[in-house]
Amino acid sequence: MYMKVTDELLHKYARLLVRSGVRVQKGQKVVLNCAVEIHEFALILMEECYLAGASKVDIDWTCGGQSRLNYMYADEETLGTILPWEVAKLEQRVEDLPILVHILSEDPDALRGVDIEKMSRIMQKRMVVTKPYTNRMTGKYQWIGAGYPTVAWAKKVFPDCTEEEAFDKLWDAILKTVRVEEDNDPVALWQEHSDTLIAKGKWLTEQKFTRLKYHSANGTDFQVDLIPGSLWESAGMVNPTNNVFFIPNMPTEEVFNTPYAGKCEGTLVATKPLSWSGQLIEDFSITFENGRAVSCKAKKGQDILEKMIHMDETAGMLGEVALVPKESPINQLGFLFYNTLFDENACCHVALGRGFQTNLPNGNAMSVEEAKALGVNDSMIHVDFMVGSDDLSVVGIKEDGTEVPIFVNGTWA
Ligand code: ZN
Repeated sequence: MYMKVTDELLHKYARLLVRSGVRVQKGQKVVLNCAVEIHEFALILMEECYLAGASKVDIDWTCGGQSRLNYMYADEETLGTILPWEVAKLEQRVEDLPILVHILSEDPDALRGVDIEKMSRIMQKRMVVTKPYTNRMTGKYQWIGAGYPTVAWAKKVFPDCTEEEAFDKLWDAILKTVRVEEDNDPVALWQEHSDTLIAKGKWLTEQKFTRLKYHSANGTDFQVDLIPGSLWESAGMVNPTNNVFFIPNMPTEEVFNTPYAGKCEGTLVATKPLSWSGQLIEDFSITFENGRAVSCKAKKGQDILEKMIHMDETAGMLGEVALVPKESPINQLGFLFYNTLFDENACCHVALGRGFQTNLPNGNAMSVEEAKALGVNDSMIHVDFMVGSDDLSVVGIKEDGTEVPIFVNGTWA
């Protein structure tokens, strides 16, 4: 493995994820989701979790390319079947509520060539069994998603560089987005950063906006209703089972809400390409009527976009509206990471599919069905796409009709 990054920086990064990010507390169980390609970092992370007081750290290993081979060679029946040991594992998870740490390092093209319809049928079949378990865990445990470079991913981002150069460049970029440098204190920087985001979210919640209106010269002309009393969230959330504040995404630059499913109108024009299931959708727009995507146009990837919107009956409805100013360090880097964790933090975006019940007061205590009844969308997908532009304006509308500018020219008003 190419390694310009020093051991010291690796530990600094791991410590940031464990201490400022997911905030492992004494006696907590942790499960790390890591690819075998990054086993050295997985062990550094494991040790940091123990040093923070974890009682047991397990690693769920994955391997780049493993899913693709399964989808290509195994039949639907086999892949769609959840075996008793898998059910037992899910039951144990619901019982233990371990901290989940997802280290994303996958080749964005890992699923290239896979039959998306077959994949979606398999996912739907598995979810019938797994969803009741994940529903029971929702909002009750700490988790985090963060990135770690691999050569395959780096070559996708920097195709013209040598493997070594590409890897180093992706490392530099990842560390920049999480504010880790040779001689700085990222823990203090993250405190300041999350305080700023939380203050924005608090202001938005206090305004009690019932509707947002989007406008941009590129053709975006859109309005979406918010659930009355909903809470704007950002950087962090609290695990209600132990009151631990944690930051589930690193990087994060967004302040977001769950829109009122079924209540939006107009057209959103995407401002960055969307990488979904290993395939790229470019220069696209989606038009909504009565809260549902009724048409979409893409210069590249039209068929993929249509499949995505029809993954299930609620995939064409919105589950997230997020505000990110154009000054975001990810936007400043100026390239696509081909990974939503990074790309969604470049500018304002919305997501098709599943919403977040944590945006409702006491949302954590609700069942998925209760949240759905209040307007939170539920779907097997949650796919973010970018709509932020240099001239995007977002206006908040209050119940009495008062209009308040939230975003002007792509940034906070
Ligand atoms: Zn988002």
